[in-house]
Amino acid sequence: MRLLLRGGHVLTPTHPAASAIGVEDGRVAFVGDDRAAAAWAADATLVLELTGRLVTPAFVDAHVHLAQTGLAASSVDLGAPTLVAALDALADHARSDPHTVLLGHGWDESQWPERRPFTRAEVDRATGGRPAYLARVDAHSAVVSSAFLEAVPRLADLDGYAPDGWLTRTAHDTARQALFELLPASTRADALLRALRQAAAQGIGQVHEMGAPHLSPPEDFTRLDALALAHDGGLPQVVKYWGAAASAESIGLAREHGCVGLAGDLCADGAIGSRTSALRAPYADDPTTAGALYLDVDQVRDHVVACTRAGLQGGFHVIGDRAADTVGAGLAAAAAEVGVDAVRGARHRLEHVEMLDPADAARLAAWGVTASMQPAFDALWGGDAALYAQRLGGERAGRMNVIGTLRAAGVRVAFGSDTPVTPFAPWYGVRAAVHHQTPQQAIDPEAAFAAHTHAGWEAAGLSGGRLAPGEPASLVVWDVTPVTAAVPALDLGSPLPTAHLTLVHGRIAHEQTGALR
Ligand SMILES: [Zn+2]
Repeated sequence: MRLLLRGGHVLTPTHPAASAIGVEDGRVAFVGDDRAAAAWAADATLVLELTGRLVTPAFVDAHVHLAQTGLAASSVDLGAPTLVAALDALADHARSDPHTVLLGHGWDESQWPERRPFTRAEVDRATGGRPAYLARVDAHSAVVSSAFLEAVPRLADLDGYAPDGWLTRTAHDTARQALFELLPASTRADALLRALRQAAAQGIGQVHEMGAPHLSPPEDFTRLDALALAHDGGLPQVVKYWGAAASAESIGLAREHGCVGLAGDLCADGAIGSRTSALRAPYADDPTTAGALYLDVDQVRDHVVACTRAGLQGGFHVIGDRAADTVGAGLAAAAAEVGVDAVRGARHRLEHVEMLDPADAARLAAWGVTASMQPAFDALWGGDAALYAQRLGGERAGRMNVIGTLRAAGVRVAFGSDTPVTPFAPWYGVRAAVHHQTPQQAIDPEAAFAAHTHAGWEAAGLSGGRLAPGEPASLVVWDVTPVTAAVPALDLGSPLPTAHLTLVHGRIAHEQTGALR
């Protein structure tokens, strides 16, 4: 099939005034102006008039959790302005939802006047005594109901268990695993498909799925393969990561499922909102804790060495400054053992990297490590009054998410959402990076766009993300006439572009009604 899109604006590195793009066999076959396109189009199967619309490479979301994202649709949003309002929303949901476990997400007590989470007793009252799992906005802790605890009695003996129902650390990981057992398999497959369709509708053509033993069962990878087959490729491409420490078993699992790495949410620490990110100095709003370190330097080194030797990407979830120190020391030890060139060649990656010391950026560049970052975190939690300032105090809050520093040091930075922590919203991410709340860390629109497209392909060791002949035809037609030839609608407050048509390797993954007339 030869598909020609013409009469628009095509963002391509090869042709500054391109108005047309041709697609054949899943690849870009032609880029140029309409006149040159006429010859190419002579035997086109389908010609789409763009009527001035913008065509860009499809976005890559470099850190997603598909099942949790899809499940969020049958889960009540508890991101209400007060604790009382969130409890009301939960009670409404409990009256109408038929699932075996009530799911809730998105609560953030740091935004509530009450400044505390729900208690178990409050949840029991609101849900009428049903099993309920209510994830905090950062997805690193949850409040559960008494009926949920009764269904999973082992939770009471675990680290991170609290009698008031707010589970963190091991107790939380175990509660989330228990959810896999309590929810039917068909519910998970439906959730995966729903999430992929949401991504395509946002103009995302590739996602990096961060599976991990504590987050999602490996059967989800099998379900994703089945979905890709059933939809003949008309869904976003899934690049798979498994967040487990390297061992004969985990390397075997990665190979069996076609994972490109043992990376993603192999956690060096937790999250700032849950006060489990490992810090050099205690939390400003709870001096009794400096978070939790889940890996030591030797474990980091051993993982990086084993992944390098196995030809797999290695990586970690790393947020706090103490966790970044530990991972940095482990990478240095690995480089000393196998050599810097071998480490570079393995394309390891770090997720989140929210509290990196700017002085360490140059080492990451030398090791060829990708920083997989979420600019929406800064938009939501940065600045003088939001979560970072509350948990860390203003001085540390002003040194978060050093996107500009990393890029200037030559580190490959790839953007993602960490959905469901923040939704699929790549333009929002681009805009957040351009309007970083710490102005020295802001980057220009072209760099931000590249970090959400081309850099994501590179992070996975793939070629793509640029609309040049021979490259994968993963592209989006946007319902905008470009303000600038490069990147539109980045002013705060202006509406973000919507996807008219999303192609993944030339296959239709999203189509607004009538887009292909
Ligand atoms: Zn994650």
